[in-house]
This record gives sequence, C-alpha cells and structure tokens, in this order.
Amino acid sequence: GFKSRVSVIGSGSWGSVAAKLVAFNTLNLSSFHDEVKMWVFEETLQSGEKLTDAINRTNENVKYLPGIKLGKNVIADPDLDNAVKDANMLVFVTPHQFIDNICKSLVGKVRSDAEAISLIKGMEVKIEGPCLISTYISEQLGINCSVLMGANLANEIAEEKFSEATVGYRNNREIAEQWVQLFTTPYFMVTPVQDVEGVELCGTLKNVVAIAAGFVDGLDMGNNTKAAIIRFGLREMREFCKLLFSSVKDDTFFESCGVADVITTCFGGRNRKVAEAFARNGGKRSFDELEAEMLQGQKLQGVTTVREVYEVLRHRGLLELFPLFATVHEICSGCLPPSAIVIYSEKKNIFP
Ligand code: NAD
Ligand code: 13P
Repeated sequence: GFKSRVSVIGSGSWGSVAAKLVAFNTLNLSSFHDEVKMWVFEETLQSGEKLTDAINRTNENVKYLPGIKLGKNVIADPDLDNAVKDANMLVFVTPHQFIDNICKSLVGKVRSDAEAISLIKGMEVKIEGPCLISTYISEQLGINCSVLMGANLANEIAEEKFSEATVGYRNNREIAEQWVQLFTTPYFMVTPVQDVEGVELCGTLKNVVAIAAGFVDGLDMGNNTKAAIIRFGLREMREFCKLLFSSVKDDTFFESCGVADVITTCFGGRNRKVAEAFARNGGKRSFDELEAEMLQGQKLQGVTTVREVYEVLRHRGLLELFPLFATVHEICSGCLPPSAIVIYSEKKNIFP
C-alpha cells in the first residue's frame, strides 16, 4: 500500500528534536517510509566541516542539539528542493523570520497532495493584516497546514523527559490523527484540538509573556510579581486571539499550547533568559547583541513577535487595551526602562 514520506524543514534545536520524534515513529509504523529527510540551513562549523556532513557522520546535530542521537534514519540535506521533493508530509520548524524566503523558494516544488504542519511560533504581518504562519504556508504552497504547539522546551524532550503537546487542525480529523500518530512517543503525549488559530496564536503570543517574565526575573521582583505578569499575559493572549478570530475556543487556553506553554517558557525558555539579561543590563545592551552572545545561533521569537503584535494593535487603535503587550514592545525597543513592566499593572483591570 501507499507509504507516507516525511520531511522536516528546519534543523535548529526544536527542529532536530522534531526529526527525532518523527523518525522513531516512521521506523515503527508500517504506513511510513523509514527515512526522514531534514533540511539544514547550511553553515560551516569552526572545525571547517559542513553542518550537514557533521550531522550525517555523527547522527547528532552537533551545533543545535549536541549529545543527542537523532536516529539513523534521519538524513540531513542542505538542498531544500531535494529535501521536500518526494514528501507528502511536511513538518515546518524554522525560526519564523525565515519562513517567508523558504516558502517563496518552495513554490511549485512540493507535491500537490502534501499535508503540512507548522511547529513555528511566530506571525507574519503583511500590509493586509496579520497572517498566521500556518495560513501563510497554506496560501503560498496551496496545501493544507495544521499546527503543533505546546510546553516543549527542546532540550528536555531531547532527553526523553515526559511532556505533552497540542495539534491544532482546521476540519480534517483524520489528518490530525495522522500527525498525532507521527509525533506521539511514550514520553510525548499529543492531543488534537479543532482550533488551529487558537493553538497557533497561543504558541506565538506566549513568547511575549515570557519576555515580560524575564524582565521580572532580571529586576528580582519575585514570584508573586511573575505570577501576576503571567496572569495578565494570559488574559491579553485570550483577548488578542478573540480579536483576530472570534472562533477561538476558551478551552484551548487550558491545553498544553496555552497555560502550560506559558508556564514552561516563563521559567525555562530562551526568551525569558535573554530578557532577564536585558533587564539586568538596564536595557543598555540590545536584544540582538545578547541573543548572539547567549544563544550561539539559536533565535528568539518574542522580540519580533511583540513588534508585530504592536503593529497590529496600533493599526487598529487598540494599544490601550493591551498594556502588557504594548509595554513589552516599548521596553524591547528602548522607549521605556525594564522597570516599566509593572507600571501598567496599576492601570485598571481591562478584561474581566
Ligand atoms: P533554533 O533557534 O534552535 O536555531 C536557529 C535555526 O535557524 C538554525 O537551524 C539555523 O540554521 C537556522 N537559520 C539561521 N539563519 C537562517 C536563514 N537565513 N534561513 C533559514 N534558517 C536559518 O531553532 P528552533 O528552536 O528549532 O526554532 C524553530 C521554531 O520552533 C521557532 O519558531 C521556535 O519558537 C519553535 N520552538 C522552539 C522550541 C525550543 O525549545 N527550541 C520549542 C518549541 C517551539
Ligand atoms: P523559547 O524559544 O523561549 O526557548 O521557548 C521554547 C518553547 O516554545 C517552549 O515550548
């Protein structure tokens, strides 16, 4: 019978873990070809070796996920067209700032019957308005796109510590079940939810809340303040989702993609970590500089996302309704000091 072929587009820390999860299942499920192609944005390592060659030689992503075997059936490929050419299941997992170029170069190159899933936490803001990454992929390539989001710090899942995730799908439950099957392992529990917009926006917006939490940590304001910021953040997440899509369900915020991802990212994520350093430096060193110094090539999503969210809100004249999101952007862009993160909380409660 027909066997599905999976390609993973992206090979950062989460991209590599995604390839590992998928490759475990393609080996064990007869409805899939064993091999999983993983597209690598090629770079030369300090040793002079190409990253792709190093991955295929050691079966580890030596730069973005060192020390973790990906599975022998993961094949790294620096040629994007070649990596996707035979696949009917495409997993998109790159930092969101690169998806535009990737999609443009993939137009006409993917199978017309392919199904996509996006693990990307971010947003595209176009002149016509905000656009979810899954919608963007879908429109550019003419294929359906689901999403997988959740409380998923890559390094912990790489070590096979238990966690869960949410698959958001539009209307085809069967497709959702296929993605659930492809990602589920004994240590990774995946739940399908028919609310693609809610699931994706949760994953996107929680990075903004994590930056706020990082400021609180950098200012040594303590746990109560951080919990308050998390609550305000969740409330603005919900309002922002409903502003963009009235279909978003309240239950989605209680899935892994919602409150659980906010919590894990506000305690253990990279956005939190760099925001803490930003606040400790009194906002004197830029996020770009700190990111390059602290993350060795890994990318933050929250700073660009909050700028995009800010643009959407300003365009609609709604900044006043989102004091936390607005303040995070104003701090990131140097207009306000990090200590401003709590000032907004003195404003009256806007949402019940
Ligand atoms: P990463 O931040 O670890 O690595 C950065 C990646 O970007 C590398 O693969 C690098 O090769 C690539 N890159 C650099 N320049 C590029 C370019 N010009 N074009 C294309 N690619 C380029 O990546 P990641 O953690 O896998 O993040 C991918 C997505 O997954 C993000 O949206 C992130 O929010 C999301 N995510 C990450 C985690 C995590 O814990 N790392 C967890 C859940 C979701
Ligand atoms: P960071 O990008 O802040 O590390 O968050 C990772 C994540 O999305 C966890 O679910």
